[in-house]
Amino acid sequence: MLEQHQRKSRTTTFPQYRKEMKGVGWGYLYNAHKDDDLDPATLEAETARLMADDDVTKKKGIYEYLLTKNEKHLNIRAFTDAQKRTLYERQKGICCSCKNHFEIANMEADHITPWSQGGKTEIANGQMLCRDCNRQKSDK
Ligand SMILES: [Zn+2]
Repeated sequence: MLEQHQRKSRTTTFPQYRKEMKGVGWGYLYNAHKDDDLDPATLEAETARLMADDDVTKKKGIYEYLLTKNEKHLNIRAFTDAQKRTLYERQKGICCSCKNHFEIANMEADHITPWSQGGKTEIANGQMLCRDCNRQKSDK
């Protein structure tokens, strides 16, 4: 028994074909993750969930995300300028963290509950933070 592990490939790890698989760098991904413990059933459930998540704007990136866990591959929906204005006016220009007043140009929209914890990109889950506070929050 030389071969302990079943060789991983796209078809053993993600048996269900979707058109978004085209152009994904599978060779590179499998070299980088060949020793990961990947369960095809769990991956399929996660893929289906993310495909149905409207805040995931780059569906093709789902496969890379599931293997790397790096959210940047999903292009999570950002707040629109109209949503930012709504949030800004609701807060009267006050940063939710440091309580100082800022011009809207110096503030950034923030997900109160992060997307990774189930928070959506919607007004109810948004707040405006000054740049410093937003940077501090994302560093945590
Ligand atoms: Zn602040």
